Amino acid sequence: MSPYRFYQDAYQTELDTRVVRFDDHRLVLADTIFYPHGGGQPGDIGELVVGERRIAIVDTRYSQDRATIEHHLAEAEIEGLSLSEGDAVRLTLNWARRHRHMRMHSCLHLLCHLIKDPVTGGNVGSELSRAEFDLSAPLDKADLEARLNATIAQGAAVTTQWLPESILDEQPELVRTMSVQPPRGHGAIRMVRVEGLDYQPCGGTHVRDIAEIGDVRIPSIKSKGKQNKRINVELVD
Ligand SMILES: [Zn+2]
Repeated sequence: MSPYRFYQDAYQTELDTRVVRFDDHRLVLADTIFYPHGGGQPGDIGELVVGERRIAIVDTRYSQDRATIEHHLAEAEIEGLSLSEGDAVRLTLNWARRHRHMRMHSCLHLLCHLIKDPVTGGNVGSELSRAEFDLSAPLDKADLEARLNATIAQGAAVTTQWLPESILDEQPELVRTMSVQPPRGHGAIRMVRVEGLDYQPCGGTHVRDIAEIGDVRIPSIKSKGKQNKRINVELVD
C-alpha cells in the first residue's frame, strides 16, 4: 500500500536509490528506508553515500503537504555537493537508534493494552519514551513494570495491514490516542496488531515480536493534571 521501503521492511538498513530532488539541504529520493518524524516517533538519522562521499542525514521529515519525505542533510557537510535527478545514491540507516525506537514504540502499544483508560499522548525516544493516560484509578509503578515485563517476555507477533480509512468512522474506538489522530485523506489507514493484545492505527515502525523489546524499566509515573499521568519508560539495555 505504501511505496516506502520502511513500511515493507522495517529491518532494512541500507538502500540504493535515486535522487528525485535536492533543494537547499533537503533531499527527496525515489524510495527510502528512513522513517519520517510523525506519530510521536522521531525521524531517522544516518548517512547518504554519494560516490566516495559520506554525508550525515540529521533528520527525516514529511514535506508540508506530506506528499514527499525529505532527508535533511547536515548543512556543514554539503559544500560543493551537486545532486541531480536520477543520480544514484545509497542510504545507510543509524540502525542502533532506530531499533531502539522500534522496541520503544511497540512497548508503548503494550501499555495501551495494560491500561484501558483513554490515551492522551505518547512520545518515542531512544533513551526515554512516555505514554500519557487519563487514569480512572491509581497505578502502582512496580506492579505496572512487572506486568509490562511479563507481557514482553511472553512474546507476541506484531503485524501491520492497510485498511480503507472508513474503518475509523465505523469503529472510532480503534483510535486509542485521542490527541494524535491518524492522518486522513489518503484513502487508507495503517493498522498495527500485537497479536491478541493491541490493535490500533499507527504509522510507526515496530519490532516483529514483542519479545525483542527485552526488559524495560518504568523510572517514574508523573502527574500531568488531576487524572492525567505520564508513564516514563526506558530500555534496560
Ligand atoms: Zn503507535
